[in-house]
Amino acid sequence: MRLFLALFAMLFFLACENSTPKPGTPPTTTETKEAKIPESKTVSDENGFVWQTETFADLGILRYQVPDFEKLTLKQKEYVYYLTQAGLAGRDIIYDQNYRHNLTIRRGLEKMIENYKGDKSSRAYYDLETYAKRIWFANGIHHHYSMDKMLPDFSKEYFMEVAKATSVNFSDEVMNAIFDPNYDNKKVNLDESKGLVKGSATNFYAPDLSEKEVRDYYESIKVKTDKPVWYGLNSKVVKGDDGKIMEKVWHSNGMYGSAIKEIMAWLEKAAGVAENEKQAKALRLLIDYYKTGDLKTWDAYNIAWVEATDGDIDYINGFIEVYNDPLGYKGSYESIVEIKDFEASKQMKVMADNAQWFEDNSTIADEHKKKKVVGISYKVVSVAGESGDAAPATPIGVNLPNSDWIREIGSKSVSLGNIISAYDEASGPGMLSEFAHDKEEVERIKKHGGLGDKLSTALHEVIGHASGKLNPGIGTPKETLKSYASTLEEARADIVALYYIMDQKMVDMGLMESLDVAKAEYDGYIANGMMKQLRRIELGKVIEESHMRNRQLISKWVFEKGKKDNVIEKVTRDGKTYFNITDYNKLRTLFGELLKELQRIKSEGDYEAGKALVENYGVQVDAAIHKEVLDRSEKLKLPPYKGFINPRLVPETDADGKITNIKVTYPDNFKEQMMYYAKNFSFLPNEN
Ligand code: ZN
Repeated sequence: MRLFLALFAMLFFLACENSTPKPGTPPTTTETKEAKIPESKTVSDENGFVWQTETFADLGILRYQVPDFEKLTLKQKEYVYYLTQAGLAGRDIIYDQNYRHNLTIRRGLEKMIENYKGDKSSRAYYDLETYAKRIWFANGIHHHYSMDKMLPDFSKEYFMEVAKATSVNFSDEVMNAIFDPNYDNKKVNLDESKGLVKGSATNFYAPDLSEKEVRDYYESIKVKTDKPVWYGLNSKVVKGDDGKIMEKVWHSNGMYGSAIKEIMAWLEKAAGVAENEKQAKALRLLIDYYKTGDLKTWDAYNIAWVEATDGDIDYINGFIEVYNDPLGYKGSYESIVEIKDFEASKQMKVMADNAQWFEDNSTIADEHKKKKVVGISYKVVSVAGESGDAAPATPIGVNLPNSDWIREIGSKSVSLGNIISAYDEASGPGMLSEFAHDKEEVERIKKHGGLGDKLSTALHEVIGHASGKLNPGIGTPKETLKSYASTLEEARADIVALYYIMDQKMVDMGLMESLDVAKAEYDGYIANGMMKQLRRIELGKVIEESHMRNRQLISKWVFEKGKKDNVIEKVTRDGKTYFNITDYNKLRTLFGELLKELQRIKSEGDYEAGKALVENYGVQVDAAIHKEVLDRSEKLKLPPYKGFINPRLVPETDADGKITNIKVTYPDNFKEQMMYYAKNFSFLPNEN
């Protein structure tokens, strides 16, 4: 399972920004030469670090930092290095999984870009490179989010011209794949009328197979057990010459074998420098699984992996998520290498150690307080490298394994802290200045916003979700609060964080230097809950997502309750609306009141009160404000989707070739990184 930053994923932004010609009417070469090349936007911070290196089409390219790498020993650095190399070694696999012609097309374009000697300043050439970059971003010719085929903006004639000049040849079928809007035009099709298997371009099933044939096949091989393997996870289903259905399994001597052997070689090296025996055991099982393709070994590996909880380094590697298979059997190749976020872990330990103090000092009714509260452990990691399905577009959190019976033994849930920070840094300045009431606010958020977000996330997870108890005889929130349970639970955890971040105790515990951090958090929260987040909602629609509902619920509730004291004033200036907090302490008192009420609703299972809160404050959108937010954010031209350039880990060696140190560098050019990967981590034939 993975969590995504849903906010950039709104299609209507695409519609607004899309000024490219419609498919089927490609511009002629002469016209495109005159067309202006779109502006690329970069975002840097005060230290000169470039968080967003470029924008093109509907995409923004970001970078993330890995400060925790420097805190590792040499052996740990080697471990991280080998794991990231292993991840990159399998990179070609995701292209082929996504579509059978992806590798042919990608390599053709890479050759064209590498060797073309003609005019590179024309709009047509810009469009050609942009097409290549979009393919690198999506690991194929279908859009990573909408799943629709991305059609080029250049003409077929221009494409042929560059192909000829660089000795690139494509078959008619591949040309159709690139230019014909109706050919293999959906990566994952969930519209049953077109056939889930036949309507999808992903390369998990031979094109002549139907959904029924596939399902019948898996039904026929299933063994009755309460510990089932994940049937079909690592194979392509085809029809043999005898017409019988069979699987081409992905293992070292099967399909994708040439890339899998490279992955295994790096994993061997990693196993040699693992932090402890449990990690090494898990890695050896993973290698064994890649060698044989045996799904029982995959399960044994997953059990060993969830049990390997010690150490500062962890990773995901394998055929993992099944979102790209309309039938949910096939795992997409991915790799994420993670280093413990030492700072966040320390903060959370301090909070967990003080969990009882927080419970005792809460505004909730005494009978709802736990006598003995235990902080919930929560893991934040720094990503050191991503590959396959996790890159360049990345999740922000991952919860694995997916197999239910193994999850009962254990599971790992991580939040990708440095990725979330990079999103903040890159989207910050434009939206922040546009919606902040005054300069003081902007400066405070720039200075303290990052820490404020981290601390409130930690408070939300460690203290918020752990706090409070149900009255005797009351059912679980799922039973009592039904469809409102998750919004109300998130609101309750959020408001615990809001209430406590303004507490002197936070300063006394050494978590922050002054309450300015809390003020920054309050300003940011209210601006988001009252306005900013509405940019993710289509005009005329209501709020559906539970985190968005809870943020508006809290913001609107305190705005309304504080009206008589003008705690938050609504300001209109030059036709623009702002929400300005006039009294931070009174606002905190209001948060405390709402906290008490939210806990009462949960403890008593008061469905009607919970429903009223969500429906009255969380769901409905103020149409005028909504329109205004959309207009104001549209003017900022923020890219709807974002993905990342990986840092590069560069080993330094002595005369004997022994690694003496590993340095992190931060490449700043997406195209160069993709061309580098193509040269150094490409092990599959065009067709598999
Ligand atoms: Zn939560």
